[in-house]
Amino acid sequence: MTTTQNDTLFARAQKTTPGGVNSPVRAFRSVGGTPRFITRAEGPYFWDADGKRYIDYIGSWGPAILGHAHPEVVKAVQDAAALGLSFGAPTEGEILMAEEITRLVPSIEQVRLVSSGTEATMSALRLARGATGRDKIVKFEGCYHGHADSLLVKAGSGLLTFGNPTSAGVPEDFVKHTLVLDYNNVEQMKDAFDSFGSEIACVIVEPVAGNMNLVKATPEFLQAMRELCTQHGALLIFDEVMCGFRVALGGAQALYNIKPDLTALGKVIGGGMPVAAFGGSAALMHHMAPLGAVYQAGTLSGNPVAVAAGMTTLKLIQQPGFYEQLGATAQRLADGLTAAAKEAGVEFCADAIGGMFGIYFSATPPTSYAEMMAGDRSKFNAFFHAMLDEGVYFAPAAFEAGFVSAQHDDAVIDATIAAARKVFAQLK
Ligand code: PMP
Repeated sequence: MTTTQNDTLFARAQKTTPGGVNSPVRAFRSVGGTPRFITRAEGPYFWDADGKRYIDYIGSWGPAILGHAHPEVVKAVQDAAALGLSFGAPTEGEILMAEEITRLVPSIEQVRLVSSGTEATMSALRLARGATGRDKIVKFEGCYHGHADSLLVKAGSGLLTFGNPTSAGVPEDFVKHTLVLDYNNVEQMKDAFDSFGSEIACVIVEPVAGNMNLVKATPEFLQAMRELCTQHGALLIFDEVMCGFRVALGGAQALYNIKPDLTALGKVIGGGMPVAAFGGSAALMHHMAPLGAVYQAGTLSGNPVAVAAGMTTLKLIQQPGFYEQLGATAQRLADGLTAAAKEAGVEFCADAIGGMFGIYFSATPPTSYAEMMAGDRSKFNAFFHAMLDEGVYFAPAAFEAGFVSAQHDDAVIDATIAAARKVFAQLK
C-alpha cells in the first residue's frame, strides 16, 4: 500500500496527541484504517490532505446544516472577529441569540449560552438537582449526553440497579445516583418511577437518539416520560444538542409536541463554532448564579465570534421551505440506499427524520441500544471503506447517525446512491 499524506499526518499526530485525534471517534478505531485529515470544506464536500474530495455526511457531527463555509456565516464571523475575539463582558449579540432561541423554542423562556454540548447537559443536570433538591437521575442506554462523570455510565447488573462507569477515572460513587434504562421501554420506566419516584431529580433523554445510530423515540415513550415526570415532581430534560434545529425548526419537542422542563442545545446553534445552550422556564433558570444557588460559568461563554456564526445560521434556517427540502433530501438518500441494497440482495435498511438519517445492516431500523448492537458491524465497516474509496464519507462507526445539509442537492444524493449500488454489489 502506498503511503499517503493522511498516513504521514496520522503517524505524526500520534506522537504528540493521544491516538492522533482530539475526539476519539475521529480515529477510525471502529472501522480501521487511516483517518482522513481535512484541509478544507465547501457546501456538501470536504477535501483530505491528498486532495481527494468526499461527499460529507457527518457535517461536523451535526452543525453544518447549511453546508460547509456558507458565505454569509463566514462573513459574519469575519466581521465579528475584526471587532475583537472575546471580551469577558456581555454583548448585545448574546441578547439577540437568547431572544432568537426563546422565540423558536417556546419551552425555553430563559437560556444560558455555553461552549459545548457537554457543558449544556452537565449544567442542566446540576440545575435539575439544585431545583428539586434530589440526587437521582435517569438516562437511557445508548443516549450520549457528553462526557460529564455521572453520565459515563451503563446499566447495572440487575433490573433497576444503578449504573456502572463506562470510563476509567469515574469513581463508582459518582454514578451511583444514575439509573440507566432501556430506550423506548415504557413499562421499565414506570417501574423505575414506582420504586424511586420521589428521589428522581430528572430524566434526561435524546428525544431522537443519534448516538446509537439513528433511533427514533416512539410518541408513547416520550408522552409517558412527560407524564411520569410531572406526576413525581421530576424534571424532564430534552438533550437536543444533536436533534435541536436538525429534525425541525423547534427541535424534536416541536415535532412530538411535548414540552420538556429543560432543553440542552448545541451543534446547529453554533453553525460550526463552539456555542451550546441550556434553558427552560424563567422560574427554573432563576436558580442559576448569579440569581440563584446553582453555580455555572465560562470564560468563553457567549463568545462574540461564535455567536455571530450561530445567529447567522439560525436566521438562514428560517427561510421558507428550508426543513421541507432538508427532510426530502435525507429521505431521498434513505430510500435510494435501501433500493440499491435490495437490488443487490444485501440485508439493509435506512431511516430519516428531518436532516438526520440512519443506515443499518439489519432488516428493520433498531428501536433500542440492544437492537442497534445486533446489526452486522463487519458489513458496515466494509461498506464504509468502499464508500470512502468512492469519495463518500459516512460516519466512521456503525453507532452514529448521519447528516445532510441544505447543499446536498439531488445530484449529490444521486451520486451517493450510484456509488452505493456499486458497493452493495461487491458486498454480497
Ligand atoms: N448531547 C448529545 C445528544 C450529543 O450528540 C453530543 C455530542 N455528540 C453532546 C451532548 C456533547 O456535545 P459536545 O461534544 O459539544 O460536548
